[in-house]
Amino acid sequence: MNIDELVEVNECPLCGGGGILEEDCGSSYYVTCLDCGCHSVNIGFKSDDERLEAARRTAELWNCGKVISMSPGE
Ligand SMILES: [Zn+2]
Repeated sequence: MNIDELVEVNECPLCGGGGILEEDCGSSYYVTCLDCGCHSVNIGFKSDDERLEAARRTAELWNCGKVISMSPGE
């Protein structure tokens, strides 16, 4: 199963840079921006069924503009 092909990830809602879906320690997913470093919330999964669901949910939040900015001092 290729998660990247099943989940649609838009450009960064803050800067328009490329957003990529990242797997964290094999137990959760989040989307991060390659340009400004902002990211969506980390959504965990415990099974392969939950894996796709977690990836879809974090991508959905990202696509809606619900991101956490990493910019220091802002
Ligand atoms: Zn960005």
